[in-house]
Amino acid sequence: MNSSGLRRYAAEQAADARRTLAEHRTEAYTGVCRSCGRPEPCDEQRAARTRLAHHDATLHALRAGRATSA
Ligand SMILES: [Zn+2]
Repeated sequence: MNSSGLRRYAAEQAADARRTLAEHRTEAYTGVCRSCGRPEPCDEQRAARTRLAHHDATLHALRAGRATSA
């Protein structure tokens, strides 16, 4: 995968993870996920957090490494 393909892939994955996090919000009063009804943090929310952190780091690294060559 070339760097622009990787960048696009990481951006899509990060956006998708953000959508999942927005869906799997924890209800403040009950402490359960409002999408799947599990106690927080639900599996989806945890997985999305990990995915977002990973792909955000990739995007930052690409940005930092390519600031002058793009
Ligand atoms: Zn959930």
